[in-house]
Amino acid sequence: VDIMLQPPPAKYGGRHTVTLIPGDGIGPELLSHVREVFRFSCVPVDFEVVHVNSADETENDINNAITAIRRNGVALKGNIETNHNMMPSVKSRNNLLRTSLDLFANVMHCQSLPGVQTRHKNIDIMIIRENTEGEYSSLEHESVSGVVESLKIITRNNSFRIADYAFQLAREKGRRRVTAVHKANIMKLGDGLFLQCCREVASGYPDITFDSMIVDNTTMQLVSKPQQFDVMVMPNLYGNVVSNVCAGLVGGPGLVPGANYGRDYAVFETATRNTGKSIANRNIANPTAMLLASCMMLDHLKLHDHASSIRNAVLTTMNETRLHTADIGGQGTTSEVVQSVMRIIQSKGQLTAEL
Ligand code: ADP
Ligand code: MG
Repeated sequence: VDIMLQPPPAKYGGRHTVTLIPGDGIGPELLSHVREVFRFSCVPVDFEVVHVNSADETENDINNAITAIRRNGVALKGNIETNHNMMPSVKSRNNLLRTSLDLFANVMHCQSLPGVQTRHKNIDIMIIRENTEGEYSSLEHESVSGVVESLKIITRNNSFRIADYAFQLAREKGRRRVTAVHKANIMKLGDGLFLQCCREVASGYPDITFDSMIVDNTTMQLVSKPQQFDVMVMPNLYGNVVSNVCAGLVGGPGLVPGANYGRDYAVFETATRNTGKSIANRNIANPTAMLLASCMMLDHLKLHDHASSIRNAVLTTMNETRLHTADIGGQGTTSEVVQSVMRIIQSKGQLTAEL
């Protein structure tokens, strides 16, 4: 079966409605820049803004946000801060959103940007992370004093569908190899099942090479020879760690976009889901990751021309104008980068609105 999600149809006049969750930290400012660029580029998307207050003791806000995403089918979000003093059974708002909407596949495409100085060049890795179970089940308890049990849940169904997702995406994108990342030598049952599901799925894709790698070796290989990887598929926590390693390899959390797909809904955000509280409201955050996330969203809505126009302008700004924010060694501000993006969109003769 084809498990690739189709976008909701456009409304009257060809316009789309997307849920926008500003979130905390740098989320609100980055998303206001996205809206500025969309307005300037005459993108036919209307945002329904839903605020989630992370200090709220109830889950009313996040439930409203989830309802809005169910209605619109698509969302763009900043990260919502997690209060670590809650009961262990309380899921983070971000996690609750992903599990409630069954956004089982987290997808991150990590690519070297030639204009950004990094130790390694020519990295082009797609990371497919199981997004709903594993170590993120929020099933923890202290069975007797001083003994904590944290349950890691691996199911055949979810392992199978994430593996299938990875192979379908690999085929669609013309990729040649899928590597399953695991620790089945230690977690023989849990990761063993995950790996077994990947193998079974792989047998249905003879055109794509399948191999597997233990997670500790994977991180070492990534920091020494990252060019060897093509598509990677893995359980939830390894996916979190590996995607942060990969983001670091290509220049950091400000550069890489991420997407969460389920059968029915899609939610876009920065790949490493940072709140960036310490740099909020200072006009210094790198807007690249969020702008590229908005381009992934436009591609999902099949607004491919708008996606390419904005993406090209963002990449040209990074690679050619070298107008960089401080996180990648520059002196530019967030708004200077955004201005450059809009100038480039205009210079390519795209239809634009008044600035
Ligand atoms: P915090 O703990 O302050 O919320 P995060 O954990 O969210 O920070 O982010 C990790 C690091 O990455 C921080 O140093 C943060 O400043 C940096 N960072 C995250 N996103 C961006 C961005 N878009 N631009 C620049 N730096 C960023
Ligand atoms: Mg943090």
